[in-house]
Amino acid sequence: SKAKLFDEKNDIKVTFKDVAGLEGAKEEVQEIVEFLKNPEKYTSIGGKIPKGALLVGPPGTGKTLLAKAVAGEAKVPFFSLSGSDFVEMFVGVGASRVRDLFKQAKEKSPAIIFIDEIDAVGRARGKNNFSGSNDERENTLNQLLTEMDGFGTNTNVIVLAATNRADVLDKALMRAGRFDRQIYVDLPDIRERREIFEVHLTPLKKSENLDTEFLAKQTPGFSGADIANVCNEAALIAARKDKTSVDKQDFLDAVDRIVGGLEKKNKIIS
Ligand code: ATP
Repeated sequence: SKAKLFDEKNDIKVTFKDVAGLEGAKEEVQEIVEFLKNPEKYTSIGGKIPKGALLVGPPGTGKTLLAKAVAGEAKVPFFSLSGSDFVEMFVGVGASRVRDLFKQAKEKSPAIIFIDEIDAVGRARGKNNFSGSNDERENTLNQLLTEMDGFGTNTNVIVLAATNRADVLDKALMRAGRFDRQIYVDLPDIRERREIFEVHLTPLKKSENLDTEFLAKQTPGFSGADIANVCNEAALIAARKDKTSVDKQDFLDAVDRIVGGLEKKNKIIS
């Protein structure tokens, strides 16, 4: 059987209200939502709809979530794949995979293509990467550039890509008419952490009115993904103790556990 080339979702339910904080980034992608909802409004007076935007920021800050919310808000199909998947491809498959992806997206336009971890495929060309698959990676990257250049003004497909390593990307990707917009998705500040807690506390059965300001204070340096993790971990800790609701102590235990995990991870990296 043929390996799955990419993921296609036609009924994304994620909207901006699921994305806490990130006001600046949301404002920037709001414009993309408008283009996708009503492309003719822009093209009929000769405007060129942007082809791509790069979402740049640390892991777990909501880049994928934000890209999905764009598709959800605009009610358009969401095609996604991960740059790291390309690296595992057989020779020649990466480029044809890209071709296929763009063909499908154009047929269903307006649409969003989302490429996670674009740095895996979009590293500057001609540099040693010791992986032995450099040629294949370059072919894939070249095909991506070719596809984006080949977009007409009425293609109505917008490519969003995510990376936490914008510094290693091939400058060709950032040229006009490609990923010429960069949108920063940073770690949340205390107010944003509070908002993220509010989102992820909603589905939990809570035993008291949990103070989100307190929780935000306990979690400096945490990403949105870390906070989602804390909330789930707290629920699991409570359930393990046969409680029927989650309390403050469960959250403190969950924070400790996540901090322990993060410290281990950082030790391995450094
Ligand atoms: P990576 O760089 O590791 O791929 P990412 O920036 O794409 O990470 P997401 O995959 O979007 O991060 O985030 C993972 C999960 O963390 C989300 O599905 C969501 O549950 C939670 N999350 C992250 N950021 C936010 C946010 N701003 N608001 C609400 N939830 C968030």
